Amino acid sequence: NPQILLDNRPVGEAVVSNFKLVEAPTPALQDGQVLVRHHYLSLDPYMRGRMNDSKSYAASQPLGEVMLGGTVGVVEESRHPKFQPGDQVVGMGGWQHYSVVDGNAPGMLRKVDTTHVPLSYYLGAVGMPGVTAWYGLVKIINPKAGETVVVSAATGAVGSAFAALAKARGCRVVGIAGGPEKCAYATNELGFDACIDYKVHSDLKSMSKALKEACPDGIDGYFENVGGYLLDAVLLRANAFARVAVCGMIAGYDGQPLPLQNPALILINRMKVEGFIVSEHMEVWPEALAELGGLVAQGKLRPRETVAQGLASAPEAFLGLLKGKNFGKQLVKLI
Ligand code: NDP
Repeated sequence: NPQILLDNRPVGEAVVSNFKLVEAPTPALQDGQVLVRHHYLSLDPYMRGRMNDSKSYAASQPLGEVMLGGTVGVVEESRHPKFQPGDQVVGMGGWQHYSVVDGNAPGMLRKVDTTHVPLSYYLGAVGMPGVTAWYGLVKIINPKAGETVVVSAATGAVGSAFAALAKARGCRVVGIAGGPEKCAYATNELGFDACIDYKVHSDLKSMSKALKEACPDGIDGYFENVGGYLLDAVLLRANAFARVAVCGMIAGYDGQPLPLQNPALILINRMKVEGFIVSEHMEVWPEALAELGGLVAQGKLRPRETVAQGLASAPEAFLGLLKGKNFGKQLVKLI
């Protein structure tokens, strides 16, 4: 069973040599356990936080252990009555080809139906990133039809689901993304009303001017995935009683400082700014997944994926995700 371990911690930016590819035997199944063969591994920004031993929104990953990660695959062998060989499942199998899972552990392994939703989407639009978009939009921003909402990292796994959910609620949806290709895709394919290229608008003044043009009625909700001057620029354009769902600050994950320049604007605009971690809100998952699955089945949410081939490509693909080299949900195909 090929596996990728966290071998040593990054000093500053993460590098490929922080990871180690090893071969390990697959343990024999005990009663209640299930052997899963992974088809896809999900790469997600939170994994960068786990590589450090300092405080992050995700717990630190011990050295020498298999990198944690979401997986979809097929049950190969089962000693649990609820799972049969051939069942398609989503779980947290980690950066390896096979995992042995306790079939009784709550939430560790879930059967999925691929009639209307491709298997890989259970790691993206109809999985953790989709529920993340749903929680921030529905529970924090809680928009009314006609309001303007903005999301950064707009073409990624979370951003693309956010657009479909916000359009379904009648909002004006504005994205922020890196480069002309991603911005064109956001408006042509994902349903954004406008998308701002932060590589062109690369400072506070230029970004706040671009936001003024893209949001003529101001900003009522912001879904923050990136941090830094983008948040400052949004605060300058926010309407009274605007809401900010603080979901991620990827621009700072590899050690870069991200100071907020003018928090007084939170007071001046009487804003609500709320951080959240999706895994602490398991109660909303069924409702969120049902809506997201419905949007996919109706063809209203068909986000793009970037698929790296083979387990050995995972470290390089992961480092690329932290630099915006992915276009849509980043996956690794294992078989
Ligand atoms: P994406 O698929 O959006 O991939 C990450 C994207 O972030 C890149 O494609 C890139 O897009 C953008 N990016 C990377 N580095 C920078 C940078 N320095 N400055 C600006 N943009 C950058 O990832 P996800 O959709 O999976 O995650 C999006 C955010 O949501 C992350 O911040 C993540 O940590 C957070 N998250 C939080 C959760 C929670 O529970 N709070 C749960 C899940 C995700 P571009 O090329 O457009 O810049």
